[in-house]
Amino acid sequence: MTIISSNLGYPRLGEHREWKHLLEHYWRHQLSATDFHAAAKQLRLANLKKQQALGLDLIPVADNSDYDHVLDTLAAFGAIPSRFGEFDQPLDLDDYYAIARGTDQAIAAEMTKWFNINYHYIVPEFDDVHFHLLDNRWLRYYQEAKQELGIDGKPVILGPVSFLKLGKRHGHYLDAAAVAELLPQLLPLYQQVFTELAAAGVKWVQLDEPTLVKTTDPAEIDSYRQALTYLHAAVPTLNIELQTYFDSLDLYDQVIQLPVQAIGLDLVHDHGENLAHLQTTGFPADKILAAGIIDGHNVWASDLTDKFTLIQQLRTIVTADQLWLQPANSLLHVPITTKNEPQADPILLGGLAFADQKLQELATLTTAANQGVAAVQAEFDKNQANLAALNASSHRNNPTVRQAEAHLADQVFERQAPFATRIKLQHDRLHLPLLPTTTIGSFPQSHTVRAKRAAWRHGDLSDTDYQDFLKAETKRWIDIQNEIGLDVLVHGEFERTDMVEYFGQKLTGFYATQNGWVQSYGSRGVRPPVIFGDVAYTQPITVAASVYAQSLTNKPVKGMLTAPLTIINWSFVRDDIPTAQVQNQIALALRQEVQNLEKAGIKIIQVDEPALREGLPLKQRHWQAYLDEAVYSFKITTTGVANDTQIHTHMCYSNFADIIDTIKALDADVISIETSRSHGDIINAFETTGYDQEIGLGVYDIHSPRVPSVDEIKTNIQRALRAIDVHQFWINPDCGLKTRQKPETIAALTNMVAARDAIQAQL
Ligand code: GLN
Ligand code: ZN
Repeated sequence: MTIISSNLGYPRLGEHREWKHLLEHYWRHQLSATDFHAAAKQLRLANLKKQQALGLDLIPVADNSDYDHVLDTLAAFGAIPSRFGEFDQPLDLDDYYAIARGTDQAIAAEMTKWFNINYHYIVPEFDDVHFHLLDNRWLRYYQEAKQELGIDGKPVILGPVSFLKLGKRHGHYLDAAAVAELLPQLLPLYQQVFTELAAAGVKWVQLDEPTLVKTTDPAEIDSYRQALTYLHAAVPTLNIELQTYFDSLDLYDQVIQLPVQAIGLDLVHDHGENLAHLQTTGFPADKILAAGIIDGHNVWASDLTDKFTLIQQLRTIVTADQLWLQPANSLLHVPITTKNEPQADPILLGGLAFADQKLQELATLTTAANQGVAAVQAEFDKNQANLAALNASSHRNNPTVRQAEAHLADQVFERQAPFATRIKLQHDRLHLPLLPTTTIGSFPQSHTVRAKRAAWRHGDLSDTDYQDFLKAETKRWIDIQNEIGLDVLVHGEFERTDMVEYFGQKLTGFYATQNGWVQSYGSRGVRPPVIFGDVAYTQPITVAASVYAQSLTNKPVKGMLTAPLTIINWSFVRDDIPTAQVQNQIALALRQEVQNLEKAGIKIIQVDEPALREGLPLKQRHWQAYLDEAVYSFKITTTGVANDTQIHTHMCYSNFADIIDTIKALDADVISIETSRSHGDIINAFETTGYDQEIGLGVYDIHSPRVPSVDEIKTNIQRALRAIDVHQFWINPDCGLKTRQKPETIAALTNMVAARDAIQAQL
């Protein structure tokens, strides 16, 4: 009678991003396929060995990837879009990467966000596929772990229904009918995989069906039931752990009846709902509850005492041998180890847990659950002391911040006058032409910009020399913008590697990790800042750069800030207080920056909120609270200025129809939105609901180096002008230009201004 520990997935990147470098060396032809495979194997085994050493009972295998697990699934099942060729053998590396990255002949498959986190998967295209099993990769990796390390692993397989639902046919995500149509073609292939696994001695597979958490219609459960019934009947000896994560199950009652031997539930990001289901409905006596009790989204150490209490609650519902302890989701989404953060304040370090520390927590909790807390008392005591020290530290108790927060409720965060009044005053002050032209903020981060920044960081370039370099770069681009004839200029954001990291470095309460990388997509890692303390404003952040840029030109220069919600969504946020509270702390800090910019003579201030749409909660019933908080913090940030100071905002992403009321509620004077990839949906949305404020719908796509022609841009402008009044409309690209090269940037913006001029002349 023992409770066991189990993991769902381990980070791919390697402690020092060895995996990233491996992929990129291969892409640059610096490594042969043979050497790639040998090195990838070493990394895989090293990751498994670590989990073995941590004493984990059930270790996931085949959770590794050469790029992305959805791509692996479609490659294994032969669901390869026909433009990449026909295959009857397992794909070689070049064919595999062609799908992810495109070739001269075939454009890459689309990539999109994995549920509500900052990981991106390759979207399967089910247009003309005929499924056939090309590669039982799960068997290969299971055997490798067994032979090399004696690990009897748990192969991780993306379930058939989620696989289908995450893909598109004819440009649209599959609906229930399409899933029902394709599922019978796919199931025999899963059966073959399962049969081979069972024959090799596999006891458990982890079948990930994360789309179950988004399933609210009881009719939709049929496809899951059909798949699981089929597989269970076909291969009854193989035990299935049906794994869900990222939220609760609305259809809990139905899901627990499905013919599987274990069910994995997220008990961290479930808003308490999964636990409530367990307590009210109970759990079937013939199944294992794989309880996701450790946060796999965030970087904080668990409170072991709280987790032990949770385990005790679960023990009143299931027996000991019915219980597995797990992270709530794959550890793919957290950095690897805190041991590579030697520069972190020890008080912070004690409160952090990356993947390896989380697995250690799991081992400790499993021992406590089986043998009593006394067996691991020292670990529990250390954990309590660490958390107490962090919570009591001055980082988390800044009286000035707490005081400002306490006064939030007595204040109203609205502009002084309504938009109609403000905009007249702004027009009088700014003297902009009809259809004003501008950009979104960043200009190319050339090799020189990045090299200088690196040199400065390593101490090879003095502060003064670095600042002089940044100024020279700004001056160069102010001159270019003037020459092109843009109306509202920007300083170019050369000082920022990243629009969130930069603000994190200037505000208190943030820790920039040294090695806290997580995979964002493919070989690309990001290092989200860790917001661990109260956020306070201690110094002007962008004022000097904006003022300098403004000193070089008579045209208005836009100040450029990142809004609170985007900072939150792209960071690891402390979990000892509500996220909304942290968001408001950031807003109060940025409000001071906005006011300081205004005082310094900056007449236009843009506050970017690109992550607003992508951060929406998985379940629609949580949207309103999220959006209300976004609006509130945006308004705290932006309403402390005079009527004639013009507030802009910018958003990326193309699906806006469902949050258009929020966009209006922000009450920004001008908004710019990415448009070119939205097939006109945004324009339609504004046409149907009407919109009073000024708006720039991106008139060309910045994601490729292609230079759009004048005519093409004119067409885009004219299309938008059918829905939006010419007096309201701004002309700008879709997003920032930091990833572009200088020549194409100048050419595209020159064409953009020419297109505007041509249209103006016809008015
Ligand atoms: N101001 C930012 C830039 O131009 C906005 C980036 C974004 O929308 N993601 O780079
Ligand atoms: Zn953008």
